[in-house]
Amino acid sequence: MDTFSSLLGYKTTDYSHNKKIALENIKKLNHILNAFCQIYEKDLEGDSAAPTPTLNGCIVSIKDLFCYKGHPVQAASKILDGFISPYSSTSVQRLLDNGARIIGHTNCDEFGMGGSNEHSLYGSSHNYLDSTKTPGGSSGGAAVAVQADMCHVSLGTDTGGSVRQPAAFCGVIGFKPSYGVISRWGVIAHASSFDTVGLLAKKINYIEDVFKVICGFDEKDLSMSRDYTYTSQRAKERYNIAYLKDTLSYPSLQEEIKTSTDSFLKDLKSQGHKVEAVSCDLLKYAVAVYYILTTTEASSNLARYDGIRYGYRTKQYTDYQDLITKTRTEGFGEEVQRRLLCGNYIFDTRETNHYYSTAIDLRQAFKNYFTDIFRKYDFIVLPTTATTAFKIHDCHITPEQMWLSDIFTVIASIGQVPAISIPYGHDNDNMPIGIQIIANQYHDNSLLTFCESILKC
Ligand code: GLN
Repeated sequence: MDTFSSLLGYKTTDYSHNKKIALENIKKLNHILNAFCQIYEKDLEGDSAAPTPTLNGCIVSIKDLFCYKGHPVQAASKILDGFISPYSSTSVQRLLDNGARIIGHTNCDEFGMGGSNEHSLYGSSHNYLDSTKTPGGSSGGAAVAVQADMCHVSLGTDTGGSVRQPAAFCGVIGFKPSYGVISRWGVIAHASSFDTVGLLAKKINYIEDVFKVICGFDEKDLSMSRDYTYTSQRAKERYNIAYLKDTLSYPSLQEEIKTSTDSFLKDLKSQGHKVEAVSCDLLKYAVAVYYILTTTEASSNLARYDGIRYGYRTKQYTDYQDLITKTRTEGFGEEVQRRLLCGNYIFDTRETNHYYSTAIDLRQAFKNYFTDIFRKYDFIVLPTTATTAFKIHDCHITPEQMWLSDIFTVIASIGQVPAISIPYGHDNDNMPIGIQIIANQYHDNSLLTFCESILKC
């Protein structure tokens, strides 16, 4: 397989002449890896007439949640069968305006709900390092597309870890920016106060190049920060770094991940950074807070899929109510239905006060926690996941265990702060391990600068 390894050199990234490599890799491998659900070979042809050609020739894949005018998009769900985007999402439009090429839509868990890419209309995507294993999810296809050199950068979405966890499982970099620095306009919604556009790539400078172009205020998404802009920085000589000691004593943490995290922290110390342990008493509430709030938001967001205006419609029905019930029962997969039931239950007036308001209060407690930590430290380090990539269709993993496995990634999502997963070490089966670094809200630039300095790309 050909790789993009010839593309070295920060700030002067040369993205040209790689369409062929990317397409050849897709042709050779996609039938095995199932990373792409749509491939847009024609969109790569000819010269681009981009007004600002900053990303000329950069090949980008987009998760099956991004609207791209004139192209199908269906959130890996039967409920959106046959839907063609009437417009492009802001991030896709900014990519096109800057000369990037969209090579295709990538496979994912339905509506971004899942962590293994198994809950997809298109079937599982497969990890390129071991095709019996999951690439993670929900942006599984996005991670594999980067892992197998099918594109330079993948756009994914990260609501509770869906960019960072697959990046860790596939040995690539996965960046979830602060909430509100990349527009959500034209990205199919899962949980609106958590959803962030995220980026995956093998090289940090690819991520920076694309992030620079797609971040920044968009009047079509009023939940955005009005004044965030990307400015490149110089790395400091010495950073104050905290590590979350509770995550390293977490009962189901895989031994090799603990060892890798310890040696990462040792490396940081030897590079002259100050490294200290901190604890987080709130950690035990993280998964509950995340699932209470996201299923509630999802049940509201997904109420629009009723089979009346667009997408799938059941074949036979007696009346309006029957049409909606059958369409939603047939159109949504099991995991989405589980979440909609949960979210609607929480919305039920008898339960709302108890679950929803407690979770909202705890979310504020997490935000206060981050504010406190970042008064003293620049970054927080912890493992991205408690295990490395597991087998596809592992029947021993229950839905509850899948939800619990999000514990290390959801905290940054609850806090709306930026976080990145970088590959560091391997387990005994040679599967990659990801280390997560979290920064203060809107300190995305310093997080990327710091990673650039430690990865020495
Ligand atoms: N695994 C998490 C979930 O299933 C994360 C999903 C995401 O970030 N889209 O909710």
